[in-house]
Amino acid sequence: MIHIKSKEEIEIQRKSALMVSATLTQVATFLKPGITTLSIDQMAEAFIRDNGGVPSFKGYGSKNNTFPFSLCISVNEAVVHGFPNAYELKDGDIISVDCGVYMNGFHGDSAYTFAIGNVEPETLQLLRVTKESVYRGVAQAAEGNRVGDISYAIEQYTHGQHGYGIVRELVGHGVGKHLHEDPQVPNYGRRGDGKRLKANMVLAIEPMINLGTHNINQADDGWTITTADKKPSAHFEHTTWVRKGKGETLSSFEGIEAAERNNKELNSEHYQQ
Ligand code: MG
Ligand code: MG
Repeated sequence: MIHIKSKEEIEIQRKSALMVSATLTQVATFLKPGITTLSIDQMAEAFIRDNGGVPSFKGYGSKNNTFPFSLCISVNEAVVHGFPNAYELKDGDIISVDCGVYMNGFHGDSAYTFAIGNVEPETLQLLRVTKESVYRGVAQAAEGNRVGDISYAIEQYTHGQHGYGIVRELVGHGVGKHLHEDPQVPNYGRRGDGKRLKANMVLAIEPMINLGTHNINQADDGWTITTADKKPSAHFEHTTWVRKGKGETLSSFEGIEAAERNNKELNSEHYQQ
């Protein structure tokens, strides 16, 4: 069932989405070579709770298989759902950080992929294209369009124009009182296909884009997804309000991007391009 929110509910949900963005901004400030991905998770959980939120992902899942952390942290060939752990970030890594916050009855959900130091130019290009593809999807999140219009816009740009692999097994989704609501929002598809979009739906639009093959594997931890060819993968996500004309992001990358530019450890040259 697809939930249509009231304007009041959307403003409440915007606060949850912006708390996710604030958390990812903290991450952008904190990142540097040598820190463990577990330390990023611990910092983020404290930040979320100090600000009156609850990490949406911690304890999420089915009875026998719940996600044990506040962030999904997926490094290099890890696509999504990575476990924070003792791995120490090193120069040349990319790190996808997915964050959800539950506050005042609504979830926000957003993800960002960061470059650590001197990352291969072809990987930086993957990051730029994947980020841009989110906005191409958001532009199609317009009242009267269909889900397939979002999917097509993302596919056409990432695969059609750039030849990247699009993860097919994992998709975007409605988001609101529940972290995952209908409809599913695939990152590939045809114009005019799928459910009709109505004003005041809220969708998590989240392309997961691989430098190489679209094929993926699941790790033995039951969660971490990696690319089958071990090439890098990028993930950007915005909680998005379906409106007349085009969608509006409830989450924001502005603070994250400013923190990224100011964090000397991340190699500011990346952000001049
Ligand atoms: Mg997410
Ligand atoms: Mg999501």
